[in-house]
Amino acid sequence: MIEKKKIKKLIPHPNSRFLRVKCLNCGNNQIIFGCAAHDVECLVCGKTLLQSTGGKARILTKILEVLS
Ligand SMILES: [Zn+2]
Repeated sequence: MIEKKKIKKLIPHPNSRFLRVKCLNCGNNQIIFGCAAHDVECLVCGKTLLQSTGGKARILTKILEVLS
């Protein structure tokens, strides 16, 4: 299968990747899974960083880096 070769570099799109994000609330850096099946909260302040919307996750904070 060589179909999934769409790599967007300019706008990091959270697919099945790990993302380094920064909490806008407390500034904590955290690595989260881009397509988590459930909400991901900041480990420090508890703010929701990633919201699972039933299959497609939505990032609610600043993405610093996309890790492959
Ligand atoms: Zn936080």
